[in-house]
Amino acid sequence: MARGRRPRPAERGRGRPVPPPLGGAMVTRRESGRDGEWNVRHVPGGSSVKDYRCPGCEQLVAAGTGHVVAWPADGYGGVEDRRHWHLPCWNARERRRPGFRRR
Ligand SMILES: [Zn+2]
Repeated sequence: MARGRRPRPAERGRGRPVPPPLGGAMVTRRESGRDGEWNVRHVPGGSSVKDYRCPGCEQLVAAGTGHVVAWPADGYGGVEDRRHWHLPCWNARERRRPGFRRR
């Protein structure tokens, strides 16, 4: 007859932590480059659930790969403006473009 306690759905702090969705607890940084000001967010591996096309190397950023999301800081229009980069490609984007001079 002992039914025991039913686990309450409201009980928190137990079980596996749920990773925050995109736009959750992740930190957005402001970076400026020759191509303007960017909002940059680092997406840890495992948080992405889609494949993206990296504008740096035009290869896929596979789902589950840690990467960088960047969008123009001025003219923030929405999710469509975001670009998903491999981290090395994002860091190298200015170096691969001729004409950019670092001060
Ligand atoms: Zn890339």
